[in-house]
Amino acid sequence: MSLSTRDSSIIWHPYTQMHTALPPIGIVSGKGAWLYEESGKRYLDAISSWWTNLHGHSHPYLAEKIHAQALALEHLIFAGFTHEPAVRLAEMLLGVLPEGQKRVFYSDNGSTAVEVGLKMALQFWHNKGEKRTKIIALKEAYHGDTFGAMSVSGRSAFTGAFDSLLFDVYFIEAPLPGREELALQELKSLIAEHGKELAAFIYEPMVQGTAGMRMMDADGLNALVEICQKEKIICIADEVMTGFGRTGKMFASEYLRMKPDVVCLSKGLTGGMMAFGVTTCSNKIYHAFLSEDKMKTFFHGHSYTANPIACTAGIASLELFEKEQSLKHVKRIEACHRRFADRLKGHKALKEVRLMGVILVLELEGDTSYFHSVRDKAYAFFLEKQILIRPLGNVIYLMPPYCITDADLDYIYSTLLQFLNEQP
Ligand code: PMP
Repeated sequence: MSLSTRDSSIIWHPYTQMHTALPPIGIVSGKGAWLYEESGKRYLDAISSWWTNLHGHSHPYLAEKIHAQALALEHLIFAGFTHEPAVRLAEMLLGVLPEGQKRVFYSDNGSTAVEVGLKMALQFWHNKGEKRTKIIALKEAYHGDTFGAMSVSGRSAFTGAFDSLLFDVYFIEAPLPGREELALQELKSLIAEHGKELAAFIYEPMVQGTAGMRMMDADGLNALVEICQKEKIICIADEVMTGFGRTGKMFASEYLRMKPDVVCLSKGLTGGMMAFGVTTCSNKIYHAFLSEDKMKTFFHGHSYTANPIACTAGIASLELFEKEQSLKHVKRIEACHRRFADRLKGHKALKEVRLMGVILVLELEGDTSYFHSVRDKAYAFFLEKQILIRPLGNVIYLMPPYCITDADLDYIYSTLLQFLNEQP
């Protein structure tokens, strides 16, 4: 029996209507930007497998480091104990993160990295004895699928079944081009009315991913962060998607003059090798938890906190940034994207083309909706051409691993053009 058939009778897949979905494609190996079926048929992974993979699939350098670590120490309780990979990765991350990040807290994935960030901010005020309990988030944000992360995400089809159980959040306009002033005014009114309740502001720096790769104006976002910090509102940068070079800089927060108080990381953290999460914070946050009073402890942790194999993957991935000059490849890919974007100017099927780092976005004409019919059509069309994309409604985007070749990019571009030219 094929992998796909065995799967179909027992497995429940994420973000998948199991009643109508086609059987999943069974993949047995990956190399570079390509994924291989048992038959040898291959697919070009143009979205880095849900934005996780940075250096290519099954990268031998990462695999060897992971293998060696598994033989040395596979896991260890992280309360009362520590290990070299956790300390080394923390040292390396603090060396590259935006200025002011001083402490590293480990968890398991992007949603938990966000949960930890929110809990740090809320307990910061609790420990200080100030009743600041409300969070500000951007409209249509996406921060994950756990309850806290859903609460700070825009209410949508994803949250519909749970809306009545999510905590109240103040949503303000995202500072998209042309909406910067509106965002600023909404924040100012919120502060005027509820200033003393506001604990934290969480945002996806520069690009709102799941909302449709919506790109923000750096000055507009910077102004929001600046006002929040003046009001002592803790600024949480969710770099789960944008981190590790995706936007052209190591972290999207580098586009802003104002630096965050808390940063959430996952996805590319291990180069795409395994599940992992990190939340970092400034000393200001950290010091609010230091006390003789045990009740001020941060009571949060996961069984696999700081898993040594995951930490090792994180270290090896950062080493690859040096060894393979990954950020230069980001610039190479961005330049290819730009040339293609120029060719698309004025295409009748397109409402807008956006570009930042390795993220190229083609927004098709029509209403913006996650369930837009063009989504399934485009997904099937590209799979047929052996390219894996996963449009967000009418938004087709690319976010390839940094090892993708110019020839592979050209193949994707010509397929994109073919698809666009076939649109009514
Ligand atoms: N934050 C952002 C900005 C994300 O894009 C995602 C995932 N797409 C998450 C958080 C949640 O990460 P995970 O899926 O690993 O829980």
